[in-house]
Amino acid sequence: STESLFENIRNDFPILKRTVRDNKPLVYLDNASTTQKPNQVIDSITDYYQNHNANIHRAVYALAEEATEAYEATRDKIANFVNIKNRQEIIFVRGTTEAINLVAYAWGRPHIKEGDIVVTTEYEHHSNIVPWQLVTQEKKAKLEYIGMDDDGELILDDLDKILATGKVKLVTFSLMSNVLGTITNAEKIIEKCKAAGVLTLIDGAQAVPHMKVDIEKLGCDFFAFSGHKMLGPTGIGVLWVKKSVLETMVPFHGGGDMIREVHKYETTWNDLPYKFEAGTPNIADVVGLGAAIDYLTKIGMDNIREHEIELTKYAIEKLSAVKGLHIYGTKDISKRGGVISFNFADVHPHDVAQIIDEEGIAVRSGHHCAQVLMERLNVAATSRASFYIYNTKQDIDILVNSLNIVAKVFKL
Ligand code: PMP
Repeated sequence: STESLFENIRNDFPILKRTVRDNKPLVYLDNASTTQKPNQVIDSITDYYQNHNANIHRAVYALAEEATEAYEATRDKIANFVNIKNRQEIIFVRGTTEAINLVAYAWGRPHIKEGDIVVTTEYEHHSNIVPWQLVTQEKKAKLEYIGMDDDGELILDDLDKILATGKVKLVTFSLMSNVLGTITNAEKIIEKCKAAGVLTLIDGAQAVPHMKVDIEKLGCDFFAFSGHKMLGPTGIGVLWVKKSVLETMVPFHGGGDMIREVHKYETTWNDLPYKFEAGTPNIADVVGLGAAIDYLTKIGMDNIREHEIELTKYAIEKLSAVKGLHIYGTKDISKRGGVISFNFADVHPHDVAQIIDEEGIAVRSGHHCAQVLMERLNVAATSRASFYIYNTKQDIDILVNSLNIVAKVFKL
């Protein structure tokens, strides 16, 4: 059992010691939104500002060298963490949203032409839909969707049909749904796309924090994730692009650091990846992300996945026993992560969230930035509980008890 590994983890997270509302211990179950930060991450940022702060890549003095080293060390940690062979392919961005917008702009605008097709899925986050609407509309291209079945899994026959048109330029999908927790069959999708000569983008925002991800093995062309969903700070994320594809992309932002030479009317670009990192980057939070990767590596991603399987199994069992409660998505634990979306009889999810907030529980209610999926499920909103390394079975017991309070209030 991995339980002993996780026993003392809560001590590393100062926020978990606080109480909320009427002196209730905080039960934080909104990890799909963002995760809490351990002291190791918080301290790394403080240490950076207290001892090493300087701008990077530009000066030869000691502090600048230390700051540059710390910044570039995180790039190497990322390469090891998700298995990327070439560090020149790793671009620091603000998060998954910026990563996908960068691809839509810097790859999409030069490559997508009138009549072309971009394919996404019905369970995407808005950040993997809207950038593609913008670029396909501008180029008079089309955006099409891989549908989802009632178990929350993608219908790959849809992909076959769309690929058969011969017009597809890109297939983009999340590796794990932020609403249903579905783990996408990425291998199968990529195999089909490769056979058709079509590029693939993976939104790894929900997958990278929760399971071992091997980008090299996946064989996609673009991969995006966010630091703040994996114990890291907000405002920092990663875009990986295969070098042969990266070399066909135009700059996203123009400015300092991304250039080699600037003249009055023309500019030459810096080497990769700096061509795509214009301006002073978010150095402190890159350092913080490095500390988060160290922390996760020490626990081990396979152990984290196992811990979450344990919690998710327990939660599905307990929640299924609550009369009138409906869980969306598959109950097959091997095909899902620790994200559970549910509705409770006809109580509005906002009422559910508000009543259980009184008990100190943080869950999210709403459309979870996935309105296309809400339309597919034929609901306006859901409540969502999502787990991470510091959650316990006791957290789930407190959630279930609070739902019994909801049942009483609404006389269910
Ligand atoms: N994709 C998925 C699957 C997500 O869950 C999220 C965050 N909710 C995003 C993209 C966007 O990430 P960020 O807000 O960090 O840019």
